[in-house]
Amino acid sequence: MRQIKESSLLPIFKAYPGLSEIPHLPLGQFPTPVFHLKQLGNKIGTDHLYLKQDGVSGTVYGGNKVRKLEFLLGDALRKKAATVLTFGYAGSNHALATSIYAKQAGLSSVSVLLKQPNARYVRRNLLMGLAHDAHIRHYATEAAAYLPVISTVLKKTFREGKIPYVIPPGGSSPLGIVGYVNAAFELKAQVEQGLIPEPDLIFVPMGTAGTAVGLVLGIKACGLKTKVLSVRVTDEKYANEGKCVSLFNKTRFLISSMAPSFPDISLDKEDMPVLHGYFGKQYALFTDQGKAAVELVRATENIEIDGTYTGKTMAALIDSAQQGETRNKVVLFWNTYNAIDFSETIKNLDYRRLPRACHPYFENDVQPLDR
Ligand SMILES: *Cc1c(COP(=O)(O)O)cnc(C)c1O
Repeated sequence: MRQIKESSLLPIFKAYPGLSEIPHLPLGQFPTPVFHLKQLGNKIGTDHLYLKQDGVSGTVYGGNKVRKLEFLLGDALRKKAATVLTFGYAGSNHALATSIYAKQAGLSSVSVLLKQPNARYVRRNLLMGLAHDAHIRHYATEAAAYLPVISTVLKKTFREGKIPYVIPPGGSSPLGIVGYVNAAFELKAQVEQGLIPEPDLIFVPMGTAGTAVGLVLGIKACGLKTKVLSVRVTDEKYANEGKCVSLFNKTRFLISSMAPSFPDISLDKEDMPVLHGYFGKQYALFTDQGKAAVELVRATENIEIDGTYTGKTMAALIDSAQQGETRNKVVLFWNTYNAIDFSETIKNLDYRRLPRACHPYFENDVQPLDR
């Protein structure tokens, strides 16, 4: 494992030195920058609109999964795993980030992927996985069929003599979530440095909920007054109140067990408002409102967001601005979507080298709102 330099000490390790016992593998580029979105703010009538650019959290591939993987892959190495196993839908940013950074850490990776609506990013992510030696197993089944799939893959990896380190969907285990508790401490340092005024509101997508839960826990712990508005973009069975409470408590317990001075906080109902009205019909099925938000952000700020997560989240922010709810408030849009262009890496790759079950994403048309 690489030596951790003093200068790269995570803000949460500075605040709670006991936590440096927690496994952590530096993979990304932190702190991620904050920007004032002047043009977009003008357009929607919110003067103090900012963006936290976690899209550049890594040099090869960014987005919100890098912060989680620094802890998860650190743990995989400490446990001497040779391979990691994770799950997602076909275009999963999480599965892709896991295979890229696992490879960088000297580990192989298996991604169990489920069918999803087709989109151009699905093709790009599958090819990028291929470029990083992801072992992709694609299943055209409902998520309920996960268990038999997992046991098949586990048996095979066991037969090959490799004990896989299992990472849950989205990397949202208590250990992965520590990455987003730290992100709140990172934001606080940026506020103290005068890089951004203290936000009143943060808008963030909620997929498997780890990002939002980590931010809420971190914000309460470090004493920011910011309210986090989570925009649900997955089915309610993956993103619901009970799951948030459970992840919050388990993560706090994990941190407190190593840093006893960490505040003994619990999640109150009003701490974690979830906006349910922007999901649309299905996970990864774009909405008109989300697509309009993607186009507005591109036209005003020349920043790329996506139709599955961040577009739906920006749609919620714009709606809120139009209802006058953000007037005179400092609003932070937490961008979780990769901003690194990897088109050069995949341009000569042939999709036919992917498992057969992945070919329809290349041979069939993408969903209408992505054409
Ligand atoms: C995975 C992902 C999310 C969701 O994060 P969770 O921690 O699973 O809630 C949001 N945005 C993007 C771009 C993602 O890839």
